[in-house]
Amino acid sequence: MAERTAFIGARVVDPASGRDEVANVLVEGGAVAAVGPDASLRGASLVDCHGLVLAPGLVDLHAHLREPGREDAETVETASRAAAAGGFTAVAAMANTDPVADTPAVVEEVRSLASRAALCDVFPVGAITKGLAGEEMAAIGEMAAIGVRLFSDDGRCVPTARVLRNALQYAKAFDAVIAEHCEDPSLAEGGQMHEGIHSYTLGLTGKPAESEEIVVFRDLALARLTGGRLHLQHLSAGGSVELLRRARAAGVRVTAEVTPHHLVFVDEDLVTYDTNFKVNPPLRTPEDREALRAALADGTIDAVATDHAPHAVEDKEAEFDQAPPGTIGLETALAAVLTHLVEPGLIPLPRAIEALSTAPARILGASGHGGPIEPGRPANLVVFDPRAEWVVEPPFVSRSRNSAFLGKSLRGKVIHTVLRGEPVVGDGKPRR
Ligand SMILES: [Zn+2]
Ligand SMILES: [Zn+2]
Repeated sequence: MAERTAFIGARVVDPASGRDEVANVLVEGGAVAAVGPDASLRGASLVDCHGLVLAPGLVDLHAHLREPGREDAETVETASRAAAAGGFTAVAAMANTDPVADTPAVVEEVRSLASRAALCDVFPVGAITKGLAGEEMAAIGEMAAIGVRLFSDDGRCVPTARVLRNALQYAKAFDAVIAEHCEDPSLAEGGQMHEGIHSYTLGLTGKPAESEEIVVFRDLALARLTGGRLHLQHLSAGGSVELLRRARAAGVRVTAEVTPHHLVFVDEDLVTYDTNFKVNPPLRTPEDREALRAALADGTIDAVATDHAPHAVEDKEAEFDQAPPGTIGLETALAAVLTHLVEPGLIPLPRAIEALSTAPARILGASGHGGPIEPGRPANLVVFDPRAEWVVEPPFVSRSRNSAFLGKSLRGKVIHTVLRGEPVVGDGKPRR
């Protein structure tokens, strides 16, 4: 990229500053140099953005990068490239790798792989318990000391109230956030999908919504008790949203995320036994989906997070009850939200950008991300065409292709992703 680059004529949507207007953005030396309808373009190479939206780069609170351990499904580099292709400039990498990220050594390994790829900022998440075993506390203090902000045993729920209480209490000293995969294992065990009319008809073992709600209730109570910071991952049930709403009103320090697939699909979509709809937590009822959408719109749920979960083809193409749960999501998250929430008028575009960028950046403590787009700030930006229609199909930039959106038509295409002034995606294509 030229020393000075000007993105001209885009609708600049920047929730952190409240800006929503057609403007020019001048980038110089990795930072934003000027922004506004009359920003000077002198000496800059021009990137025409008329008809496009320019926003702070997206931030994902929840992705499985699979490295170390399952490099056949994804690596830090391929996930970073998929993230950039999807408009993300920052991604939180879950700790359930092999080995588990429960010590500073694994955190540093993921960081160094990410900085070698240099396509996206990767924020490794630390495990809450050693080996995700739910018993002994992981090296939370040591990981916090090297800048880890988010801790999660994701893939598993912290099994006892005592362990979670201790974690919330301990993490408080570092202003760290304890993120929970809310699922009571004793109720969810063996479950293939949401327990309801469709699990009975399909003859599949169900997981009741209560398996999530019970843990949400427990965790909110413990957050209140300890004053610790709790983050609820991938909420799926309307009952969870009600508990969250009440806790927030009572001043409990809690934030929450929802995935694009839970905002779009429901349990009935499993009638074809398509394993790409097998996710954890499971897709639930249309009423649950409505509750999630409403909670995202009114801010009860802070953020959209992908739960990007790549799986090798031979694993995912197994019999339904053998296939691992999960869908990839980095390349489709923005378009899914634009198509299914913004287009139909369920949420305004600035709220969508807030949920995909500004709010998750704040929760993650990713201070160079999420805006504001102002002079002196790092130029972490996305430019997208909100109208462009495309069909989700291979090849994916991700190493895996287990997408719940496979074959679906979506609107909204990333044109440029800019990481500290570097064009990591240009004209819709990853640059390297
Ligand atoms: Zn999870
Ligand atoms: Zn996950």
